[in-house]
Amino acid sequence: MSETTLVAIRSDTGERVTIGDLALDTLRELSDQHRLHCPNCGTPLMLKAGPVRVHHFAHVSLAECAAIDHEPESDSHRQGKLRLYQHFRQGAVLASLEQHVPATDQRADVYLEMPGGLRYALEFQQANNSVERWTERHNLYRRSGIHDIWFLGQSRYQERHAEPLHPISSYDPLPVPRDVFDAASGAFQARELEKAIIAVEPTLYFLDPDNGDLTVLLVRSVQGNTIRAYRYRVPLSGCVLREGRLWTPLDPLLDDYRRFLAQKSF
Ligand SMILES: [Zn+2]
Repeated sequence: MSETTLVAIRSDTGERVTIGDLALDTLRELSDQHRLHCPNCGTPLMLKAGPVRVHHFAHVSLAECAAIDHEPESDSHRQGKLRLYQHFRQGAVLASLEQHVPATDQRADVYLEMPGGLRYALEFQQANNSVERWTERHNLYRRSGIHDIWFLGQSRYQERHAEPLHPISSYDPLPVPRDVFDAASGAFQARELEKAIIAVEPTLYFLDPDNGDLTVLLVRSVQGNTIRAYRYRVPLSGCVLREGRLWTPLDPLLDDYRRFLAQKSF
């Protein structure tokens, strides 16, 4: 497997270089001069800016890189991570792509420190990693006081065709928004990873790396591998990080719903 990265260290200045931060010509020059090295293993990198959507760096040697914490890189995975980085770095005190976090000894897709001191790890997850791995990573972040937010790849979003999506009925007992953000009610496939996330919080976020749309599922129930949920679509560009969580344009409309859930659990 060829190890690729979106971040390199400039050997002449020691600076961290993220793809997209420098002009392509500059990156080409640095690459040609062998001045780019892997932040993880220190070996030389070269720029890959051919017929791919997302430019990136690849190791020159085939020796295994120590960065083992990430799923196999595909073009869409790079695109998803880059989207998260480029959007949420706005307003951050510190923003870093593919950042090794010493406190947890794992690599965050996007690591952010916000004004006021809250720290976030954003993870873009397309592959079907084991639940054990997810739980371990989630717990490591929480224990270190880092708020981890998981964006599933849009490819994981699957409607159950046996139960087609339908408008949210006005008789539906839950006080959820019914006519905004492409609202619908339906049944969706859940794999083990989705179920593990839902057990912590009954909301799933799916990011489409191509257009930046975020599909939000407010989960009502889980039965076997089927979840029943309210579905919404919001633009990632309208989302912010606030009080340790992801805040979407849907949130101001969820006050009644959250109150309802809180009462139900007592
Ligand atoms: Zn490396």
